[in-house]
Amino acid sequence: MSDTVALIVAAGRGSRAAPGPAGVPKQYRPLAGRPVLRWGAEAFARHPAVAKVRIVIHGDDRAHYEVAMSGLALGEAIAGGATRQDSVRLGLEALAADRPACVLIHDAARPFVSQALIGRICDALDGADAAAPMLPVADTLRRETSGQYDIVARDGLLRTQTPQGFRFDAILDAHRRFKNAGATDDIALAGLAGLGVVRVPGEEANLKLTTPDDFALAERIAAGAQSDVRTGFGFDVHRFAPGDHLWLCGVKIPHDAGLAGHSDADAGLHALTDALLGTIGAGDIGAHFPPSDAQWKGAPSHVFLAHAARLVRERGGTIGHADVTLICERPRIGPHREAMRARIAEILDIERGRVSVKATTTEGLGFTGRAEGIAAQAVATVRLPS
Ligand code: MG
Repeated sequence: MSDTVALIVAAGRGSRAAPGPAGVPKQYRPLAGRPVLRWGAEAFARHPAVAKVRIVIHGDDRAHYEVAMSGLALGEAIAGGATRQDSVRLGLEALAADRPACVLIHDAARPFVSQALIGRICDALDGADAAAPMLPVADTLRRETSGQYDIVARDGLLRTQTPQGFRFDAILDAHRRFKNAGATDDIALAGLAGLGVVRVPGEEANLKLTTPDDFALAERIAAGAQSDVRTGFGFDVHRFAPGDHLWLCGVKIPHDAGLAGHSDADAGLHALTDALLGTIGAGDIGAHFPPSDAQWKGAPSHVFLAHAARLVRERGGTIGHADVTLICERPRIGPHREAMRARIAEILDIERGRVSVKATTTEGLGFTGRAEGIAAQAVATVRLPS
């Protein structure tokens, strides 16, 4: 089945979640360095059975959306409605011109949808109009009435998750017919429309982020979901040349010499770029930005480093730490160290506490000792999806 579109609903206001960074709805809050919404979008985009991912957003969230999804080749965001049901219907209407065979409707607040679960839903749609992941209830259930706690029988009770999958024409028709049903999920509308629903096993890790506790648990799951830890190493040298300043780790330093190179000759950022590329086996800086290409002449090296960071993130990775050692007799690095850490953190979009800049001399020995040039080494650690 190739003609399947994933429709992620991200238009909610998340009023039950704890207030996060001021004015940021929960689906755009970071989870292990990536916005919650992006986790789900990348999971569907990665699945071979999903041809396209479209996202329904709140009209106020366009700026959050652009930042959260940068670099992902998704179609234009779809404007949602006042309720979840309205938002899904508007999403389906936006897909109607393309008329995919199937649609997988997913809540943005469930970032840990697995490849296996997406596959189970797609497989179930081969023989059914609708499919949803469900799980039994393990806890004892009680209903409170005026201080009395009466047990509710668990028999037959099922927790329902997303993604919920449908033959596209069938669910669009159900949404058009039952516009005011007040449904909290789409299987409810499938039921009203008399569609046959198939149940597939849900997953405990596919939790819906609602409360502050959920976010704490999600951070732990996110760390486990990225257990493929990679370390990359980089090394670079540039020779001194006439000049009155040089660039090191993204900071301009006045000096009685400059550094020669095709770009701005920032050996620190070049070494770190190679270290990041090394974590994902993506070659070296020269392969991505050939010195033979005139467009990189005099280029600021933050462009190279940001590119490497983007490649890591496109693999679903999180940058754990970056450590640069500058090797030179002069200029003195100490006075610029904190500015360098801050600049690297900014380029990589990680916390400053995850960036280290160190310096050493070679005791007057070798080319660095003779002040012929500056060398830099860097190590970077990333976590990739396991
Ligand atoms: Mg270089």
